[in-house]
Amino acid sequence: MNCAICNVEMKEYDRHNPVPLFLGERQRVCRECNRFVTASRIHLIDVDPLDKVILAGMFAEILKTAFALKKADEQHAKMLQEEEE
Ligand SMILES: [Zn+2]
Repeated sequence: MNCAICNVEMKEYDRHNPVPLFLGERQRVCRECNRFVTASRIHLIDVDPLDKVILAGMFAEILKTAFALKKADEQHAKMLQEEEE
């Protein structure tokens, strides 16, 4: 199973509940990304439930996009390095 945010493969014993960032029963996040979940819980604690769903969903999408951009950057850097060799 892969992390719902950064897409890294997770060990079975190291999968964390992603609520409120993801509400689906079958999604889990890795230990690293669980920090984003914990931070979101702290910041969204007093937010109206409907607003919480919208804000958490938006934050989750931003995080997923940021990790996808990171991966693209790493692949680009690797490609440039291979061209130099
Ligand atoms: Zn992750």
